[in-house]
Amino acid sequence: MRLSRYFLPVLKENPAEAQIVSHRLMLRAGMIKQSSAGIYSWLPLGYKVLRKIEEIVHQEQERVGHIPMLMPTLQSADLWKESGRYDAYGPEMLRIRDRQDRDMLYGPTNEEMITDIFRSHVGSYKDLPLTLYHIQWKFRDEIRPRFGVMRGREFLMKDGYNFDLTKEDALHAYNRHLVSYLRTYERMGLQAIPMRADSGPIGGDDTHEFLVLADTGESEVFYDSEITDLTFGNREIDPSDHDACRAVLDEFTSRYARTDETHDPELFAKVPEERQRTARGIEVGQIFYFGTKYSDAMNAKVQGPDGKQVPVHMGSHGIGVSRLLGAIIEASHDDKGIIWPEGVTPFHAGIVNLKQGDDEADAACEALYNSLKALGLDPLYDDRKGGAGMKFATMDLIGLPWRITVGPRGLKNGVVELTSRRTGESEDLPPEQAVEKIA
Ligand code: ATP
Ligand code: MG
Ligand code: MG
Ligand code: MG
Repeated sequence: MRLSRYFLPVLKENPAEAQIVSHRLMLRAGMIKQSSAGIYSWLPLGYKVLRKIEEIVHQEQERVGHIPMLMPTLQSADLWKESGRYDAYGPEMLRIRDRQDRDMLYGPTNEEMITDIFRSHVGSYKDLPLTLYHIQWKFRDEIRPRFGVMRGREFLMKDGYNFDLTKEDALHAYNRHLVSYLRTYERMGLQAIPMRADSGPIGGDDTHEFLVLADTGESEVFYDSEITDLTFGNREIDPSDHDACRAVLDEFTSRYARTDETHDPELFAKVPEERQRTARGIEVGQIFYFGTKYSDAMNAKVQGPDGKQVPVHMGSHGIGVSRLLGAIIEASHDDKGIIWPEGVTPFHAGIVNLKQGDDEADAACEALYNSLKALGLDPLYDDRKGGAGMKFATMDLIGLPWRITVGPRGLKNGVVELTSRRTGESEDLPPEQAVEKIA
């Protein structure tokens, strides 16, 4: 992309309405624009990152055998009356009436709808296990939408639902989700710690939230510092292997790690004092096992091996796709702007032409641009007429991992300057070598 033809409405001033750094930087970098409280347009740069995050989520879901689909945002109230949640959900649910006077709602989550799809089409245990998921906009009329996309009213969520014959199988689905979530967040450059949580209006006893530690997080968390040493890394875990998935769950949840909702001071006191930590965290996902809560209420049964009809065991599993942009920025920025982890960066590298209009500099930039593209990379070329200071500030603000600076002086010696956004270190290299380092 050439910056002169892109739409990147960066702001020079700090927007007064933004209280936390990720919100401020997303507005300044021209990634989002608020349309009303908690509802945002995704401008091209923000949309690009959103899609990258979505893509990682899809890949990691499909890696463990979960099946993508898409359900609508608007739902009929009838299913929610069947489950009993229409009254229970409260004012966070946006209720709408259509022209035929039918009660509708903008879905805050999809347990009812997926259970209805399941019961309409699946009748035998032979079709289990089954896990379906979608990535779709949700609406929750949050009492205090704030911090930009972090607590929106309209927000993008991946929500997945497992259907299993037995509790044991459903708990395996739970563990498998935990495995896949650990990998998902690490690919985005995040450490998200599974913490024992409270199930809220979804219901059920087994549930973990995934929290990214950050001072601006809305949850208070208590944990054993040993947990931050754990990484999932590049392990190959067979998603159908119950023991292997269970071992990962045990490894990542055996140390004390709880949110304020489930915090138990007596248990916490047993953690050696030098390892006790109290901090704040951002909830970027949650997994639940809730058994037959919805299948009982909505009559979602299958025929078991013995011919008897039994309600299916279910769980649901969410990832806050749009919230993740905020969480990643909270975890990775400096006073000049965003520092994108490689896995989610909107462009792989920025090219800064110090002397736009100079034949040699222009040609060198074009050549770099084309060689990066030829390697399947996505560069952003700042081909605007303008000073170096302005161009550097833009690149620092939008946080691409690499900047290649091209100017007549370097070119005389056959080199360009390659700068890492994360370390700030620069080196002079022949253009081909700069490209190699990025690729
Ligand atoms: P919170 O405690 O932050 O209100 P929640 O527990 O109500 O979130 P879940 O029902 O667990 O949310 O939804 C799954 C995920 O969707 C959450 O872990 C979070 O990452 C994301 N999410 C929930 N509410 C919002 C929101 N208002 N804006 C953006 N993301 C959200
Ligand atoms: Mg909530
Ligand atoms: Mg929560
Ligand atoms: Mg939650």
